Amino acid sequence: MPVSNERLYMDYNASAPLGSLARQAMVAAMDLDANPSSVHDDGRKARAVVEKARSQIGKLFDSQAKQVVFTSGATEAANFALTPDWTMGRAPVRFSKLYVASSAHPCLLSGGRFTGDDIVQVPVTGDGMVDLPALERTVGDHDTESGLPLVAMPAACNETGVLQPLREIAALVRAHRGTLVVDAVQMAGRMAIGLSEPVGDYFIVSAHKLGGPRGIGALIALSDIMMPLPLVRGGGQEKGHRAGTENTVGIAGFGAAVEAALADLARDRWAAIATMRDRFETGLRALCPSVTIHGERVPRLPNTSFFSLPGIKAETAQIALDLDGIAVSAGSACSSGKVGPSHVLEAMGVEKADGALRVSLVPDADPADIDRILASLERLLKRSLNAHAA
Ligand code: PLP
Repeated sequence: MPVSNERLYMDYNASAPLGSLARQAMVAAMDLDANPSSVHDDGRKARAVVEKARSQIGKLFDSQAKQVVFTSGATEAANFALTPDWTMGRAPVRFSKLYVASSAHPCLLSGGRFTGDDIVQVPVTGDGMVDLPALERTVGDHDTESGLPLVAMPAACNETGVLQPLREIAALVRAHRGTLVVDAVQMAGRMAIGLSEPVGDYFIVSAHKLGGPRGIGALIALSDIMMPLPLVRGGGQEKGHRAGTENTVGIAGFGAAVEAALADLARDRWAAIATMRDRFETGLRALCPSVTIHGERVPRLPNTSFFSLPGIKAETAQIALDLDGIAVSAGSACSSGKVGPSHVLEAMGVEKADGALRVSLVPDADPADIDRILASLERLLKRSLNAHAA
């Protein structure tokens, strides 16, 4: 296959391309000059845009969202939620320890406002699933004298795409009087969150992972009885939960992106992407039978493939694909430029000095795109074979 000059973007988990409805909503919101907290007519028009988006985003959670608090992204939402100090009405509520999956995104792993000693990592299995018996033991041993347990779990891992058994986790956390914060960043808008049974109490979402703009996210509470103490303090915006004039343009784009994502979900757009991912992995295994596909035996996001090619460094593969016009990641891209071992692979106990490459397909990826990635990998594998033979 000849090398194409056209760029092929397959790094959806790092950031999704901005959707057309989100772009339109943002352009329209740029004409709103007023502060959404102003009481005059212009202010009320900006407020209406913010509130429309809030209700669009609430639909990600059926009609169960009681609070949608806008933040500057998922990282801020995590720092907001992960705090020992909460309030229930006027009464203080104290969480004395944070239990977090060792494969979680750094914004959970860093523990927000908890101090080091109060952050307990919960191991994951070699497949990347939370070790439920270990979670049961750790949260079961929690001493409620000093405060309640707060548990933070990813719904889906940004690197492997592995989905966590949220129903089981939520039941276990409830049984131990805990509260569950779910990082739904990689799942929201791609899979139904499925709230017919409890799967968490608070959810973190980010616009740029579902076709909205970067720099806007939210913490969603299914109960408005108990809330974390604000992280950003000042004015009384967001019902006192997050100070600062709302980012009207970002919020408008976020709301429209969620609406578009939910429409795509309703017409099963992501089911087709699983077929493309499977086509990719079948082709990959034919090219390199000794490839390791991380998390392949357990439920994963339909667009994600995270794999290690023996003898080829993930960064080398990433550069080779980039030179062929294909954007993928070597692990996650959240701390740009950082080249280091993937903490997710380490958490899974995978000893792969060469790291892993993540192909995260965009929803409209087609067979020709898959064949182009495979052709690029085939050239790389041949070069590597020749280099070893020389
Ligand atoms: N959580 C997960 C699972 C992510 O993949 C990311 C970004 O990669 C984040 C949180 C952080 O999101 P944001 O960029 O909105 O801070």
